[in-house]
Amino acid sequence: MQQDALTFAIRPNASPMPEADRLKAFENLGFGTLFSDHMAVIRWSADKGWHSAEVTARAPFPLDPAAAVLHYAQEIFEGMKAYRAADGRAVLFRPEENARRFNESARRMAMPELPEALFLEAVEQLVRADAKWIPAAEGSSLYLRPFMFASEAFLGVRPSKEYIFCVIASPVGPYFKGGAKPVSIWVSEHYTRAAAGGTGAAKCGGNYAGSLVAQAAAYEHGCDQVVFLDAAEHRWLEELGGMNVFIVMADGSLVTPPLGGTILPGITRKSLIALAKDLGYTVREERYAFEDWKADVASGKAKEAFACGTAAVVAAIGKVKSPDGEFVINAGETGPVTAKLRDTLVGIQRGQTNDAHGWLKVLEGV
Ligand SMILES: *Cc1c(COP(=O)(O)O)cnc(C)c1O
Repeated sequence: MQQDALTFAIRPNASPMPEADRLKAFENLGFGTLFSDHMAVIRWSADKGWHSAEVTARAPFPLDPAAAVLHYAQEIFEGMKAYRAADGRAVLFRPEENARRFNESARRMAMPELPEALFLEAVEQLVRADAKWIPAAEGSSLYLRPFMFASEAFLGVRPSKEYIFCVIASPVGPYFKGGAKPVSIWVSEHYTRAAAGGTGAAKCGGNYAGSLVAQAAAYEHGCDQVVFLDAAEHRWLEELGGMNVFIVMADGSLVTPPLGGTILPGITRKSLIALAKDLGYTVREERYAFEDWKADVASGKAKEAFACGTAAVVAAIGKVKSPDGEFVINAGETGPVTAKLRDTLVGIQRGQTNDAHGWLKVLEGV
């Protein structure tokens, strides 16, 4: 049972945050701590399919203690941003890619697919309702979090017969506290993130739950993020807890680990591959061993490295630490290729650079 179009009931929040409070909060935006006035919700049940679409005041969900998500973690999500472009337009960046990936995650987690048109409509309706929550300052945006979870109350291992799809919005500043400063990463030689046949390519909460202890180890070693190696050989670079990774070589080529089931197919990753090619770089989606990275940095063959994802966009990697020691990349500074790619992508997202690929979706009248 699939419905491509539902009418959203629009129920404005009766007590939205006062304008002065919102503007005050905008002066010091962090990441993911402040939320807008509304949420978009669509429900699914085995007998009715998708139904009850609405935009309503952001509020807690009443959840039965036996709700399947609380026991079996049947949950997926997306992360995307609405930007206030330089000329005042409200834009989304490649939202249809998020809609498609959401359904790939849904299939892997035995959840119902949400028609892409409905996913996009829910996101757009929420941004319309909360248009004043899109911050305009450089480096800020309205982070959108579509997600779906199993809400049926039962104990027993099988796919749920009820789900709630929801979109919430959070005005955000830079993802890392240090702003645009390069990040340091800890190489997790013990914990892995995903194995062949597992859920590594799905954007599901469970992947994150499993990564937290490795992320905690990164903090303990004074690093900002953890980078995972492959589960079979503990040798090949995979990705960070929530970001893909690229290495910039001295010969002007870029290397990034290939997709293949254990890596999340990032939309930022895909976009940067296209932009790098536009700019004349060769991009190789190839396995790259951690020991080669170490040797290539020492010999000067590898010049820069960066992590990328919607939340942090592009973050240079300045230092890599593992139980055997550490090495510094590009003297701990953001390198020229990383900066060029970041500026090109951010320029497109903010409507300052020609959007040659047609990646922006302009929200008319928002
Ligand atoms: C979301 C995510 C990314 C980045 O994907 P984008 O589409 O670029 O935001 C990378 N790795 C993981 C594990 C993720 O969950």
